[in-house]
Formats: sequence, C-alpha cells, structure tokens
Amino acid sequence: MTITTAPAPSPAAAETGTMRAAVFHAPGDIRVDDVPRPRPGPGEAVIRVTLTTICGTDVHILKGEYPVRPGLVVGHEPVGIIDELGPGVVGYEIGDRVLVGAITPCGQCHACLIGKPAQCGHGSGFEAIGGWRFGNTIDGAQAEYVLVPYAQANLAKIPDSLTDEQVVLLADIASTGFSGAESGKVRIGDTVVVFAQGPIGLCATAGARLMGAAQIIGIEGDPNRADMARRMGADIVLDPDAVDVAEEVKRLTGGIGADVAIEALGLQVTFESALRCVRPGGTVSSLGVYSGKLQVPYDAFAAGLGDHTIVTTLCPGGKERMGRLMRMVESGRFDPTPLITHRFSLDQIGEAYELFSNRRDGVLKVAIRP
Ligand SMILES: [Zn+2]
Ligand SMILES: [Zn+2]
Repeated sequence: MTITTAPAPSPAAAETGTMRAAVFHAPGDIRVDDVPRPRPGPGEAVIRVTLTTICGTDVHILKGEYPVRPGLVVGHEPVGIIDELGPGVVGYEIGDRVLVGAITPCGQCHACLIGKPAQCGHGSGFEAIGGWRFGNTIDGAQAEYVLVPYAQANLAKIPDSLTDEQVVLLADIASTGFSGAESGKVRIGDTVVVFAQGPIGLCATAGARLMGAAQIIGIEGDPNRADMARRMGADIVLDPDAVDVAEEVKRLTGGIGADVAIEALGLQVTFESALRCVRPGGTVSSLGVYSGKLQVPYDAFAAGLGDHTIVTTLCPGGKERMGRLMRMVESGRFDPTPLITHRFSLDQIGEAYELFSNRRDGVLKVAIRP
C-alpha cells in the first residue's frame, strides 16, 4: 500500500484553475460554463473525466421536475483518471483509471454499515437517497474534472482490458437495472416481466437473464427498444398499447402470473400493471421514480392478503459494486456498449440533452467526452 498526501496539482490546472462544466442555471437552462476546478481535501480525490453520460434524472433536473441549486454542475456517471489525491486516500496513484458510481456512499455511517449505502447518512444515521451526491448535493461529472467524496470507498480501478465506453454505463444504469432483478430475488427458472425497455429496463432485462430467469417478458411499445430488449435477453416483448399486458402475461404463464415484475418507468399505470402481472406470493421490484400519489387498488394485490412483496431500490454504488459490474463485462457475460447510440463532446452537451430528452433518432444513451 502507498500513502499519497496532497501531490502537486497537474500543469493544466495550475495554469488556469478553471474547467468547462455543464451547469444548471434554471429550469430549461443547463449550459457549459467555465467554473473553478475542484481541489481535494482530506479523503477526497479529483479525477479528470474522460467519459460520462446523461441520465434520465438529469433530464428531470433540466425540466425543473427535480430541484437542485442554481450553479450546480450536473451529471453523476464519471469515468476518468485520478488527477489529485487528498490526504489519507491510500492504495491509489495519480494516473490510475477509475470508475466512480453514481451513488458515493461514505462507507462509515449506520446506513452504509448495515448494507444500505444508497441511503447513506452523511457520517451518522440514515438519509433517504443520501448516497446520491454527484449532480444533486455536490458538483457532478458533466465536467472536465470532478471531486470524488469519500474517495477510499468510491474509486474503482478499471482493468486495462476495458475501455471507457465499456464501463461508463455501469456507474448508474447497469447498477440500477441489475438491482431490480437482485432485489426482486429472481430465481433460476422464474418468469420475469420488465416494464419499459429504456436504458434501465434494458439492464434489468439483462440482469434477469444473469440471475437465471427462464422466461423474460419485456413491456415496450417502441420498436427500436423492443429490438434491443430481445438483444439484452427478453424472450417476448409486449406492446402495452396493443395487448392487455396482465392478461397476456397470465396466458404466457399457464394462468399463473409472473414470479417477479420489475418496474423501470415510475408511472401509476406501469406500477399497477406490474402488481396485476405477478402471481400470489410474487414480487414487484420497483426502480421507477414516482411523483404525485401512487395508488394500490385492492383487487390488484388480493386486498393485501396475497403474500406479495413490493421492494424498491436506489442504484447501488461504491467501489465494490463497481468492481463486480466491471468483472461481468470483463468476463463477457454482459456487454453494455450497444446501449451507447450517440457520442458528443462536452461543448456539444446541449445538443445531447435535446436529443436524449426528446428520444430522437433511436437514442438510448449518449457518451459525453469532456
Ligand atoms: Zn442516473
Ligand atoms: Zn454512509
């Protein structure tokens, strides 16, 4: 092990002290500005971002549907190279390639220590969604540099055999998508229904296959996404506008219903349909972000007496999780790269937001290179 203490800043940084970054100003207004380049304090690191992406959550921020403070650098999916290490971060060198999860747990609070790091309590206790810091409570990754808090718990070294594009989607969407299948406790031989085949639903589909599902039914109306769902492991894709999904799932399971339904959209209609698709004793594993009131009609879950499980999960983060996901890519068991459909520089990020938020041109995920 090596102990590195406050090395000299890189030449580029010393020259300017600023960087380019996508900054939230107001709803509808995210633009690339020159902002101060971060410097690491004790336990922190600064990485030079070599690749990042835009998440659906960033679009909610852009539209003002998820409030953040004006002036915040957005984005929460960084791949990069360690540029500076603060005092106390051990086992890393300047120049190491690293992946950092969207969720950056402290690794030391009650939530982290009982295994719920996404609900990290900032040093003590619990805080709902507390582990999500980048582009939420601290400056994020759509920038030339990003400050990584609790670096010891969050810097996952990238094996030389993996490219930036092979790992960038692991920070959030693959980790989140897989967690839908993991939290749903998919078992070998299960039938799993996955509602919505956007980037997270596609990774949930891949996760269900990895967990051993015998039959995976994707729910998606967009033909491009339906094709990708089949590529990620769906056996059948149902168009919710063309069929009664719950009836069709019953038919496809000999009248029983699915063992697990994964909800990856965050709407009343998909949540309720997920409940109606699962068999008695089945599990609804919810990944969606909901707003307003979510209702559970009594007939959709046997009036509360059907032994159903409803479980929710926020993207698991931290270096151990990122390492596990990278091993899945390294071994060839999972390939996230088909989901990257478009590429932009950081200065073109406005164009990337426009494309991504309007789902134009068959876009699934965009790669942003600062
Ligand atoms: Zn995200
Ligand atoms: Zn914590």
